[in-house]
Amino acid sequence: MIGKVFSSLAKDIGIDLGTANTLVYVKGRGIIINEPSVVALNKKTGQILAIGNEAKKMVGRTPSHIVATRPLVEGVISDFEATEQMLRYFINKVYEKSWAIMPRPRVVVGIPSGCTEVEKRAVEDASRSAGAREVYLVEEPMAAAIGSRLPVQEAVGNMIVDIGGGTSEVAVISLGGIVVCKSLRIAGDKLNSDIIQFAREDHKMLLGEKSAEDIKMAIGSAYPQEEKMEFVMRGRDLISGLPKEVILTEDQVRKALSRSIKTLIRAIKDTIEETPPELITDLMERGIVLAGGGALLRGLDILIQEETTMPVRIAEDPLTAVVRGCGVVLEDVDALKEVLISTQYDPPPR
Ligand code: ADP
Ligand code: MG
Repeated sequence: MIGKVFSSLAKDIGIDLGTANTLVYVKGRGIIINEPSVVALNKKTGQILAIGNEAKKMVGRTPSHIVATRPLVEGVISDFEATEQMLRYFINKVYEKSWAIMPRPRVVVGIPSGCTEVEKRAVEDASRSAGAREVYLVEEPMAAAIGSRLPVQEAVGNMIVDIGGGTSEVAVISLGGIVVCKSLRIAGDKLNSDIIQFAREDHKMLLGEKSAEDIKMAIGSAYPQEEKMEFVMRGRDLISGLPKEVILTEDQVRKALSRSIKTLIRAIKDTIEETPPELITDLMERGIVLAGGGALLRGLDILIQEETTMPVRIAEDPLTAVVRGCGVVLEDVDALKEVLISTQYDPPPR
């Protein structure tokens, strides 16, 4: 009884460990951290200089011995140590003031589907050493579906497409489990690099990552828009080396993105093809839900709807769907136990 009261005081937390952004949800309080998944590292000393917002400010502005990296981008978890440090930093941030007197929390972490056993352990260990009493892992497409209020535990097919920064995940979920799932490296970052490549090839201009992302968000689209938008692209002329400006139209940007978008749609179609027939019927009725920042690309929902002939809707606040899903799991871990993944690993006694 006392234990129960005690643990209800703990600030249990849910974490979306995304390739672009890390979000932290605290039970009873909501989302309190939303920062880029970036770590700035001094290569000479191996010392971590900054994490999150602070580190993102350094991207592209660092002397050569300092690198600002995104530890999750290159592989599923490409830089263990940096991921661990980042996780610890965010967890500690929640406990900054109250750690000493608070009971240790339970932590639900959303991890990319397709994490290896070793990667899962790394996340689990990092969470424990940052103070977690219990650690639960949930695959991101599952968390995104829960955060989008899909009935994941019922005997119906639910389809979720989570388009993040480094990866997009396409999944069909039923009865608390992932039935079919595809993960591809075509997501927000790839769209940015498509724009960089377009600027180089068509306008002989050198564009930074940040400028490319600004263009994507300002006028990027997957489907022709009624409103004809334009954007002034600023960069450096590759030949003269001097600053240069070019007016871009929405059509040009859409064309630059079209190959990647096609690949994404191909993956969605392939996933549908691999889905058992009974579940397809559900999908036809219930449609596809889009989550992650990439869901906000103009007209992507309409294009997917046209290409798959299935209804498509964008999750409410798609950028926070995963962490809200982790929050839902946190509120009732027992009821949602079946959606969690186990790591077949007994932590060392503390
Ligand atoms: P992750 O889960 O991998 O951390 P997020 O779900 O946070 O990724 O999404 C980040 C990606 O979404 C970035 O690549 C960003 O450029 C993209 N994004 C955010 N807002 C928009 C928008 N309005 N239009 C297009 N892309 C967007
Ligand atoms: Mg994500």
